[in-house]
Amino acid sequence: MNDLSSPTALPAPPGSEALRARAEIDLDAVRANVRALRARAPRAELMAVVKSGGYGHGAVPCARAAREAGASWLGTATPQEALELRAAGDTGRLMSWLWTPGGPWQEAIEADIDVSASALWALEEIVAAARRSCRTARVHLKADTGLGRGGCQPADWPDLVAAARAAEAGGAVRVAGVWSHFACADEPGHPANAAQLDAFRDALKIAERAGLDPEVRHHANSAATLTLPESHFDLVRPGVSVYGLSPSPEVGVAAELGLRPAMTLSASLALVKQVPAGHGVSYGHDYRTAGATALGLVPLGYADGVPRHASGTAPVLAAGKWRTVAGRVAMDQFVVDLGGDAAAAGDEVVLFGPGDRGEPTAEDWARAAGTISYEIVTRISARVSRIHTNERANTGG
Ligand SMILES: *Cc1c(COP(=O)(O)O)cnc(C)c1O
Repeated sequence: MNDLSSPTALPAPPGSEALRARAEIDLDAVRANVRALRARAPRAELMAVVKSGGYGHGAVPCARAAREAGASWLGTATPQEALELRAAGDTGRLMSWLWTPGGPWQEAIEADIDVSASALWALEEIVAAARRSCRTARVHLKADTGLGRGGCQPADWPDLVAAARAAEAGGAVRVAGVWSHFACADEPGHPANAAQLDAFRDALKIAERAGLDPEVRHHANSAATLTLPESHFDLVRPGVSVYGLSPSPEVGVAAELGLRPAMTLSASLALVKQVPAGHGVSYGHDYRTAGATALGLVPLGYADGVPRHASGTAPVLAAGKWRTVAGRVAMDQFVVDLGGDAAAAGDEVVLFGPGDRGEPTAEDWARAAGTISYEIVTRISARVSRIHTNERANTGG
C-alpha cells in the first residue's frame, strides 16, 4: 500500500535540496543598501518593506539585517507576515497595511503591530478589537492621493478623520500615522507625482484641523526615496531597493544608485549530453540545435518561479558564457545549448546575481520575460533553498 504518512519515509538529508539549486542572499548587501537609502533620506526614519518573504529574499533574516543597518520600522502587506516577524522575535515598530474584514486585528494589536485603515469599516473593527484587548491601537490612516488602489478618497476623508479623532478621544486608538502611496514614482518627473504630493498635503491639513497629530507622515516608496526628497516627510518605505534592485531603468542603474543586488540564483547542471544537429529541445521543439552540440539541463522550472515567459529569451551564465534558455521552460527544468564548450553534470549555472562575476542580473531577466525585477525575485518559490550569507553584521568596518 502506498501510505504517504508512512513513518518509514526518511527525511531528506539536510542541505541536499541546495545541491540542485539555491538562492543565496548576501545580508551585507541588504545592510549596505539600507545605509545607502538612509543617506538619501537623512531627515526621515526608514521602514524596510519585507512583505512577501522579503521580496523572496527571506523576511526574517532580511528584517534583522535591515534593523542592524538602522531601519527603525518594518512594513508588511498582510498582518500574517507581521505576526511571523513578531514570532521570530522582532520587537521594533512594525506596520502592516493589507486588511480585510475580520482582521486579525486583535492579534495584531496585542502583538504591538501598527495597523492601517482606509475606510470606516476598518476603523470600526480596530476600535472594537482595541476595546476587547484593553489596549490603544496604533492606526495609520491611508489617503488615496491618486493611486486608485488602497486608501480613502478625498470625498470620504473628512469623515474617516473625524471618526478617528473621536476614537482617539475615547482612548481606543492613537492615530500614529497618515500615509499614502505613489502610482508613478518610478517615472521621475511624471505629473502624477507632484499632484499626489499636493493631495497628500491637503489630506494632512484636514487631519490636523480635525485635531490629529500623527507621529509619522509617509508617502515614499523606493523610487521616491531615491528621486523625490520632498516626498520623504517623516518616514520612507523602500522595498525593492533594500534588496539592491532599482525600481526602474528611469530611476537608475543599481550600482549608480549605490545599491547592490542581494540575491544570486544558481543551480547545478543535472545532465550534459551530446546531441546531433537538428535536435529538438524541450516541449514543442521551439528550439532546434544548429549543429552537433552539448545540451546542459538546468534543474529549475516554473514551479521554482522561473518565468515560462523566459522561454527562448532569458540569459544564464553557464560554462563561462551567457547562454539563452533553449526552448521552453518546463515545470522543473530548462535546457541551455553549451555549443562546443566543456561542461559536466554538477557544474554551476548562474541565472542572475549582482552581475560582478559576469552573470546576468534580475533586471536582465525582467527585460527578457517582459516583467519587472520585483517579480523576478519575489516569484522564486519555496522549493528553492535560501542560503543567507554574512548573517552576522561585520562590526569591523
Ligand atoms: C510594496 C510597497 C512599498 C515598497 O515599494 P518599492 O517600490 O518596493 O520600494 C511601499 N509602500 C507600500 C504601501 C507598498 O505596498
